[in-house]
Amino acid sequence: MSKVKINANRCKECGLCVVNCPKKAIKFSEEINNSGYKPVEINDELCIACGICYVTCPDGVYEIA
Ligand code: SF4
Ligand code: SF4
Repeated sequence: MSKVKINANRCKECGLCVVNCPKKAIKFSEEINNSGYKPVEINDELCIACGICYVTCPDGVYEIA
């Protein structure tokens, strides 16, 4: 069970959440999403569910469960 839910197709690969995650739990996928970007993926073993990615992302990628 993931700690944060993502809508990968909304990600525009801006990197804001990646640099703001305090646990460095976010990286870019090798897959390409529907918009032509490599979307974020979360390392659940590192994630502490702090919510910073949710408030940082300008494109609504993250959802609170
Ligand atoms: S919830 Fe916090 S720790 Fe988890 S990926 Fe988002 S910013 Fe990183
Ligand atoms: S802040 Fe949002 S759009 Fe930018 S890389 Fe992170 S998930 Fe993707």
